[in-house]
Amino acid sequence: MNHPSPSSPHEPATPGRGTRLDPWFDSYAERTHGMRASEIRALFSVANRPEVVSLAGGMPFLAGLPMDVVAEVTDRLLRERGTVALQYGSGQGDVALREQITTVMAEEAIASHPDDVVVTTGSQQALDLVTRIFVDPGDVVVAEAPSYVGALGVFRAYQADVVHVPMDDDGLVPEALEATLTRLESEGRRVKLLYTVPNFHNPGGTTLSLERRPAIVAIARRHGVLILEDNPYGLLGFDGDVLPALQTYDPEGVVYLGSFSKTFAPGYRVGWALAPHAIRERLVLASESAILCPSNMSQMSISAYLATCDWRGQVKQYREQYRERRDATLGALAEFLPDARWTVPAGGFYTWLTLPEGLDAQAMLPRAVTELVAYVPGTAFYADGTGHRHIRLSYCYPTPERIEEGVRRLANVVNDELDLVRMFGTAGDSQVSGTINPGPNQA
Ligand code: PMP
Repeated sequence: MNHPSPSSPHEPATPGRGTRLDPWFDSYAERTHGMRASEIRALFSVANRPEVVSLAGGMPFLAGLPMDVVAEVTDRLLRERGTVALQYGSGQGDVALREQITTVMAEEAIASHPDDVVVTTGSQQALDLVTRIFVDPGDVVVAEAPSYVGALGVFRAYQADVVHVPMDDDGLVPEALEATLTRLESEGRRVKLLYTVPNFHNPGGTTLSLERRPAIVAIARRHGVLILEDNPYGLLGFDGDVLPALQTYDPEGVVYLGSFSKTFAPGYRVGWALAPHAIRERLVLASESAILCPSNMSQMSISAYLATCDWRGQVKQYREQYRERRDATLGALAEFLPDARWTVPAGGFYTWLTLPEGLDAQAMLPRAVTELVAYVPGTAFYADGTGHRHIRLSYCYPTPERIEEGVRRLANVVNDELDLVRMFGTAGDSQVSGTINPGPNQA
């Protein structure tokens, strides 16, 4: 085989044969052109330095897990069933775990059969598989404004056109969804998916109200659009209430995604899709071609944990820990950043900040990092380049004291920038339409 020779640093690249830095540049598939490192990944190296308070990554608080119990489960698994745990397994996933997943989903009023569950390598792989089997280049995916950055990355990789629909404090706005789908239809666009995170939204911190749930499902059904319901945080509601999944209103019209990453631990990389029968068949085929099978070791570890440990107690403990951190965040925002607005999350890991007019969260980030606080700028969560006035704050990982310190540092940066804007005029886009428009702060 003839490899293009890497150009020497002193020679120009051969025309049509790549660039000086990457001799393979012209060989990449077109679908890779939309791929880029997420703003979160770019931040990780600095944000992980101990002196920086990171309100950026959505890393679960694993110090809250009883590691000795987890170690015991893994140890016993290897000793007693090691040759199965370390072997290849079924493409659809371990049947015992799929059975247990149906009981986890029953907490959200989902009635399901293990045959319709596909275990995946995190729900991230489920997002990839669903997009892979439905989306051709140029197809439209309708998604909340803002949307989970990892899902946007998948949609981009399959060359989908993402069209955002606004949310408010009660989640996705049904009238806006109806208007968007009607417009897209009149333009002759092919809308393949409605991607939504109904509970404790990443990054919005909002929850789709009970009243809106049947309305959203009915609109999608009327327009013939499959709903992709992504629900990794559903059991992490601070008051313990669990709203019925969209899936319960129309099991044939929804692919539901779940994950053990937030309720147990992300390191196992175990998530799942619950899908109507025909879709499930294709998901399994797509998954087998991608990974052969999900890890038996991970699946059996989780299965043993669910069977022998108090997983509901653990989820309750996580809820309490995250509630305390949510309270610390909102309290610090009210004290130090009263000029901003934010959503009040009823669960999950995130609150969504709207900065005072004229500020640009992306442009401000290097200053913030110098002041030893990190966040993710709102632009990461839009496919259309907007979101400059917004910030996602994650409160899942730092202690309440560190959160308070982080918000205080952030407030210093914001207030300095605000002084500059007052002196010299606007720094960023002042648009907040097409995003969550939260009501008055209730912190
Ligand atoms: N969906 C959402 C909304 C998420 O926040 C995440 C993780 N941050 C994922 C999917 C992927 O999670 P995992 O692959 O760990 O299950």
